Amino acid sequence: MPEQRVALITGATSGIGLGIARAFAAQGTIVAFSGFASAEEISRIVSELNAAGGKAEHVPADARDPLELAALVRQCEAKFGSVDILVNCAGIQHVAPIEEFPVAQWDAIIAVNLSSAFHTIRAALPGMRRRNWGRIVNIASVHGLVASIDKSAYVAAKHGLVGLTKVVALETAGSPITCNAICPGWVHTPLVQKQVDSRAKELGVGISQAERLLLQEKQPSLQFVGIDEVAALVLFVASDAAREVRGAAWTIDGGWTAQ
Ligand code: NAD
Repeated sequence: MPEQRVALITGATSGIGLGIARAFAAQGTIVAFSGFASAEEISRIVSELNAAGGKAEHVPADARDPLELAALVRQCEAKFGSVDILVNCAGIQHVAPIEEFPVAQWDAIIAVNLSSAFHTIRAALPGMRRRNWGRIVNIASVHGLVASIDKSAYVAAKHGLVGLTKVVALETAGSPITCNAICPGWVHTPLVQKQVDSRAKELGVGISQAERLLLQEKQPSLQFVGIDEVAALVLFVASDAAREVRGAAWTIDGGWTAQ
């Protein structure tokens, strides 16, 4: 087991993934991350993570491309010696009734939100087995457990990701490698902001009213889940103390799925 662990996080240039990168950097973990952003934004994120005590590097990889995902894991192993913790966080959303759902959006959502995790896990697991330690954390969603209208691709992908998580957990159950899914409810990120904005436009209400309506519909706490709260849960699941947490679909959803 290396002194300083290496975490590879996909989709960490924004929102939840960036929060997870910040949390790992703050505890001194080496962070390799992918995700889209301008060169200036990426260098700002790298400087911020390094200043927080980490050693961070952006490794570009389009989560729609299996070859780039395999290369992402290989590059991370070549550069830092291992991928000890793999967090699959890259995700996109599109909202439309199924009859109008664009086929290209279906394909992209399945590729980014589901297949990308298969490709990174497939590439990272042999190294984890060699080193006899590993943590795989898939950022799923409440939509991995329950459905909402107009989100066919997202719900299908996230249910698939929860299923994939369970299979990997079983295949690694006899080893010190674990695989779990985290299932957040509404978290205030750019992905959700788009849905707030379109609801505000559709209903002719202000942004804060649209936020209230969004929460009222699904999340009994009427509060957004904090990015730092999701990150803290990921840190726990990735810790040694969580060695017998296996194949979980762990909700952090303000009561959404308790209803
Ligand atoms: P976000 O839009 O803020 O961040 C998405 C990240 O994924 C960005 O870094 C983006 O560059 C990256 N990404 C998108 N397409 C990519 C691609 N093709 N290749 C590589 N990177 C790509 O969104 P977020 O809300 O932080 O979502 C992060 C994850 O959390 C997603 O998997 C999402 O489904 C999940 N999630 C979000 C919420 C929420 O309420 N925000 C709730 C449950 C689950």
